[in-house]
Amino acid sequence: MKKNTLKKFASVAVISGMFAMLAGCNSSLLNETEVEGAQRPIIVQGPMPIEAENFAKKLDKVKVERSGNFVFYKGKLNNYPVIVAKTGKGMENAAAATAVAIEKYKPIAIINQGTSGGHNPELNVFDIVLGKTTTNIGSLKTTHLEAGQGIDPTSWIPMDLMASEGSGSDDSANQVRHYEGDKDLLAAANAVKDTYTKGKVVEGTIGSADFWNSEVDRIQWIHEKYGTDVEEMEGASVAQIADAYDVAFLGVRILSNNITNGGTYNAGTAAANQDYVYEVVKEYISMIKSK
Ligand code: SAH
Repeated sequence: MKKNTLKKFASVAVISGMFAMLAGCNSSLLNETEVEGAQRPIIVQGPMPIEAENFAKKLDKVKVERSGNFVFYKGKLNNYPVIVAKTGKGMENAAAATAVAIEKYKPIAIINQGTSGGHNPELNVFDIVLGKTTTNIGSLKTTHLEAGQGIDPTSWIPMDLMASEGSGSDDSANQVRHYEGDKDLLAAANAVKDTYTKGKVVEGTIGSADFWNSEVDRIQWIHEKYGTDVEEMEGASVAQIADAYDVAFLGVRILSNNITNGGTYNAGTAAANQDYVYEVVKEYISMIKSK
């Protein structure tokens, strides 16, 4: 669906280059403005201060803009516009910060990154999951039980909020929706995998909900039902909004904890993930520039 993003960008850049040539070499300011206008920024989101501020510090010429609770650090990386967004935690903050950023800044791509909890026992704290798919693990319908029959979470049914505009009674809504990671962003992330030395970098499934699960059996159930490798609280809402606007999206999540194999929480993972995503963004920029 987003295959053409880079191509679209390339043709805008070519047209803008032609415009700059027509404008003549004596007007370097105009040339710069035109090039600036053609460069759609890359947005890197982090929910918490420890998940955004390290990256923001790496940008050149930073200007800070605020909208509601969201903080946008607008800067440059290798002379290309990059905006770090501190979104706040949870699905609502992440979705709103994404819609605001798309409307304001017309990004070419959005990377949602930060910490996460392991669902896959083969992944350890400091391993990184690239979201080949991202899915909402908190959008559910229950079955019908009468008063006194208790609650039965393992019988709950996934509810695809985007399946129809109706009440959700049709069968197509009873499915898990997977948002696919953009293939160019995934290619950039895979290309710089070896620069990361604190753990593995793997492709997988990121599950999101306003929920911190610490019941191992429940985690196992989600892992089986949705194929999740990690859980966090933002990615799927960003993927949903990016999809609505047809903007390239990738989730990149480091494990800060993994209750399925005794991996205790380590806040230092947040900075490690930003260091890796910095390499990903540099690679993506060089891909854009060489198209
Ligand atoms: N400190 C709070 C929770 C913070 S929310 C508390 O324990 O009460 C956690 C943030 O880290 C979210 O932005 C989420 O994306 C991420 N996160 C890390 N590990 C997680 C896990 N196991 N489950 C859910 N979110 C997790």
